[in-house]
Amino acid sequence: MAATDPVLKPDFGAKRTHFILTDEHEQLRESVRSFATKELAPHAEQWEETTFPDSVFRRMGALGFLGLDKPEQYGGQGGDYYSALVLAEEIVHSGSGGLAMGVAVHTDMAMPPILAFGTEEQKQEWVVPAIAGEKILCLGITEPDAGSDVAGIKTRAVRDGDDYVINGSKTYITNGHRADVIVLVTKTDPDAGYDGFTLFLVPMDAPGVVREARLRKLGMHASDTALLAFQDVRVPASAVLGQVGKGFYHIMWELQGERLIGAAGCVAGAQHCFDRTLQYALERTAFGRQIGRFQAIRHKFAEMATKIETARQMVYTTAWRFKNGEYPVREISMAKLYASRIAVEVADECIQIHGGAGYMKEYGVERVWRDMRLNRIGAGTDEIMLDVIGRSYGL
Ligand SMILES: Cc1cc2nc3c(=O)[nH]c(=O)nc-3n(C[C@H](O)[C@H](O)[C@H](O)COP(=O)(O)OP(=O)(O)OC[C@H]3O[C@@H](n4cnc5c(N)ncnc54)[C@H](O)[C@@H]3O)c2cc1C
Repeated sequence: MAATDPVLKPDFGAKRTHFILTDEHEQLRESVRSFATKELAPHAEQWEETTFPDSVFRRMGALGFLGLDKPEQYGGQGGDYYSALVLAEEIVHSGSGGLAMGVAVHTDMAMPPILAFGTEEQKQEWVVPAIAGEKILCLGITEPDAGSDVAGIKTRAVRDGDDYVINGSKTYITNGHRADVIVLVTKTDPDAGYDGFTLFLVPMDAPGVVREARLRKLGMHASDTALLAFQDVRVPASAVLGQVGKGFYHIMWELQGERLIGAAGCVAGAQHCFDRTLQYALERTAFGRQIGRFQAIRHKFAEMATKIETARQMVYTTAWRFKNGEYPVREISMAKLYASRIAVEVADECIQIHGGAGYMKEYGVERVWRDMRLNRIGAGTDEIMLDVIGRSYGL
């Protein structure tokens, strides 16, 4: 460096666009954020009581947000995988974890297997109206007696002539009360081990589908969570999604995308909570100082920011690999595990920094903590993620 060169100063305000994202992604980010802030956030508190209305799907469909990374031939925008990440990140500006989850189940959990494994007729029947927001999707894996142990599910589909007859139950199903169709995981051959599972697309108005209890929960109140029963539900063989006997592998593939999108949502949720709390720490005073100027509080922000940034890098790097055709199950599990954990830790510290206000509903931080807590359980618990990671080393 020559003596005349300008002195380099840290550029804390630098635009922090990650190398995987283009200007187009950033424009998309702006429009999703603007929509979430203007059209969703004002209702977030009310939707905690009522759950969010189905009209949100129609509005998002009209704006093109439900098919950002889906093929244009089905009404999607034909964007890349990162555009789905941007949606998951920016929808947190709705201030409603329940809404973000309901939308993600539709776009990134139930829709991908139909696109990946469905017939042309199935895509026309379900994906086209789903991208338009006119039909709502849900995904049924978990049962009262089997969650982590997916292979332990009991819902049976038995061939009967040209049809299948389905019996069983599913629980904790997001969108279960509002959905038009469920991607249902069943067992078709209990003696065939992992080769005995089959997915079905079951219309939720089919005779024998019973939407039982609307389940009450700790957080994510804006989402609807259902206990469902399937009592002699008769569907034609054309309702099979993908290959008969390959449903376990199909759903394990689906879970990878779901976990990565969930991890992106956790990072963004943590960042949103951090930003709001930073503002609070600059406004609130104690002992004649802004509370953010106390070293104890400043260090909390430093810890949180470091965790959020670490998680973000894991998500983006893994997304880059995923988009480029790799199947990085270990890294997806790590990103999901880490992002879920730090999101809860950040929300917890944000409550602490708010003091008593953090415990009050008015500030919304307690809601972030309650909503975020789900991510350490849903889509595979921390313990299951640790097991996947550990086993990937041959243990
Ligand atoms: C609000 C909400 C929404 C959800 N939405 C959906 C949905 O839309 N569709 C759907 O199918 N499911 C959904 N789920 C279900 C969710 O994916 C499951 O709850 C989750 O996979 C855990 O299963 P489980 O509840 O049966 O817990 P269990 O499997 O009974 O686990 C209980 C405890 O045992 C631990 N454990 C289990 N097995 C092992 C092991 N091998 N090693 C170490 N520890 C282990 C777990 O980590 C956990 O701590 C939702 C759940 C909630 C709460």
